[in-house]
Amino acid sequence: MAQPQNIIAIVYDYDRTLSPRSMQDDVIFHKIGVESEEFWGRVNRLRADKAYEDELAWIRLLLENTAFRRFSNRDLEGLGRGLGFYPGVPEVFQELGHVLGDEKYSRHGVTLEHYIVTSGLKAVLAGSSLNRHIEGIFGCELDEDDEGKVFWPKRIISHTAKTQYLFRITKGLEYVDLSRDVNDHMPEAERRIPFRNMLYIGDGPTDVPCFAVITSRGGRALAVYDPGIRASFETCMALREAQRVDEIAEADYRRDTHLRRLMEHYVERMADRIVAEQQSEHESRIIQAPRHG
Ligand SMILES: [Mg+2]
Repeated sequence: MAQPQNIIAIVYDYDRTLSPRSMQDDVIFHKIGVESEEFWGRVNRLRADKAYEDELAWIRLLLENTAFRRFSNRDLEGLGRGLGFYPGVPEVFQELGHVLGDEKYSRHGVTLEHYIVTSGLKAVLAGSSLNRHIEGIFGCELDEDDEGKVFWPKRIISHTAKTQYLFRITKGLEYVDLSRDVNDHMPEAERRIPFRNMLYIGDGPTDVPCFAVITSRGGRALAVYDPGIRASFETCMALREAQRVDEIAEADYRRDTHLRRLMEHYVERMADRIVAEQQSEHESRIIQAPRHG
């Protein structure tokens, strides 16, 4: 069945996009007696010496830690309450909705949804204050043993696998159910949120596959940098110069910042286009009507 396609989605990476630190550094390491530099050094050695994928390397090292193995997924959710974010998060999720408060948009039922696709742990984000503003969170997931303690990865979202979740978002809420095969064919008109109604926000090379999926299909992409880290800015500039993203901005989501204005701008332009599409479709139906009458 054809969809009204009047939903706009903003899809966010998590680490260094919504937060200045990785969730491991932020809330996990100090609970399990791990020293950050040493841990990531071991991750790098597994990658270099044994060609591990990044996510499998850090999940293996966490699950080898006896203190971490005492956690349940519920415990990981509890850690999520301690996460720190860039300025303006999570307020931005609610405040951005006001852009669509204008009658010209509400008349056409234009709405905004937020999604997070991360290579970090979903459980940690699910327990954070972001959760209640977010339509869907996709991330790595751990299974629990008979005693209810985490012991094995049941879902790994590597940075190349992140794009699969963009297809789940475009196809609709039933595809947020991960038991459903995302490769089912679905015609454009039946998609709940077409890619041209999506804005993706990320921070670096690990987001390039997502930037490419979105921008090649008419959506928009922004790269954000940490103003305190020069290399972060240079990474974003390189993405901009390679035309991977439409714009770059400092990761400050507060009102009246450059990033906030860009987000509002893209949401408004998408909303205007949705309204124009609905009006022209309505007019073409009126014009056609006498011929059938
Ligand atoms: Mg990131």
